Amino acid sequence: MSSSYKVTLIPGDGIGPEVVNAAVRILEATGVKFEWESYAAGAEAFEKYHEYIPKELTESIERTHVGLKGPVTTPIGGGFSSINVALRKQFELFANFRPIRNLPAVPTRYPGVDLVIVRENTEGLYSGIEHEVVPGVVESLKIITEKASTRISRFAFEYARRMHRKKIHAIHKANIMKLSDGLFIRCSRNISKEYPEITYGEHIVDNTCMQLVMNPYQYDMLLLENLYGDIISDLCAAFVGGLGLVPGANFGHECAIFEAVHGSAPDIAGKDIANPTAVLRSGILMLRHLGEENAANHIRLALEKVYTERTHVTRDVGGTAGTSEFADAMVEALHTIPPPQPELHEVEL
Ligand code: ATP
Repeated sequence: MSSSYKVTLIPGDGIGPEVVNAAVRILEATGVKFEWESYAAGAEAFEKYHEYIPKELTESIERTHVGLKGPVTTPIGGGFSSINVALRKQFELFANFRPIRNLPAVPTRYPGVDLVIVRENTEGLYSGIEHEVVPGVVESLKIITEKASTRISRFAFEYARRMHRKKIHAIHKANIMKLSDGLFIRCSRNISKEYPEITYGEHIVDNTCMQLVMNPYQYDMLLLENLYGDIISDLCAAFVGGLGLVPGANFGHECAIFEAVHGSAPDIAGKDIANPTAVLRSGILMLRHLGEENAANHIRLALEKVYTERTHVTRDVGGTAGTSEFADAMVEALHTIPPPQPELHEVEL
């Protein structure tokens, strides 16, 4: 615990500034003190600094070791490379962690989902190594290394052991990509032997999509390389009410950056209708990372209250409230619910 936490804030663009500002208000309402160091990234930063990731932003993360980030738009089919991916590579944030849990009274097809997705964050098809071989033919390289595959497997199994999770499935397409995905599952299989209390399985990614939709409860934790992790995360977000609700964290050995699973959602940007819950729940993960368990649990209780009452929830989950009305209700709830005592059995969300 500290009297004040320095945190690098990247509001991002599209719905980013709206949802991040709402989350910041709610985080501050817990009484935890933050010193936010706020920086633009992406197209907005380029206009100002002629850099997509300004030096000042990099230096801030090196100083604070913790970031809370909104989505930054990645141009499709051309333009600059993803800032999200670049930050993960620059700070070696090798583990992308995405817990999927229902909130009360959000209409979904599947109640009581409790899944954890662990995604390798630094390589695979996200290596961004693409070139045109001859006009009309391009090549994109999928890089899988023993080092990164072992490191992410170790992260997943350590988390499972610490949080008493029961099962990990490594997800792959090693029947087709025999070398690359073959290496990935060989590494996870090797690591799994050191954790006999955790059941280990392997499923092919296309079958996993079907299995998830048929019965998501058969899985406990999913361990995936980069691209499969991206796709399966959005699929799993739908189990609990959509992208507006699902948080994420990127962990490295030195730094951690907390961000929602969703993108900049330009279709709803600037209208005060986006749901800030995904960024806020990323803030819950950040509070736990900082050791502020009570504040994290306090927000969790306030979320349960606001969602159970349903009068101030946003449209994506069937309500009518705007982003700021939801934030007001959360601040009010934090002021009326007493802060909880530390819980014996910690849950993330
Ligand atoms: P990216 O490829 O940049 O990760 P994405 O494919 O995940 O982006 P989003 O920009 O997140 O796509 O948006 C997908 C859909 O989900 C859009 O229709 C958007 O309106 C909706 N959506 C995303 N985030 C939110 C949110 N916070 N609140 C409400 N709706 C959202």
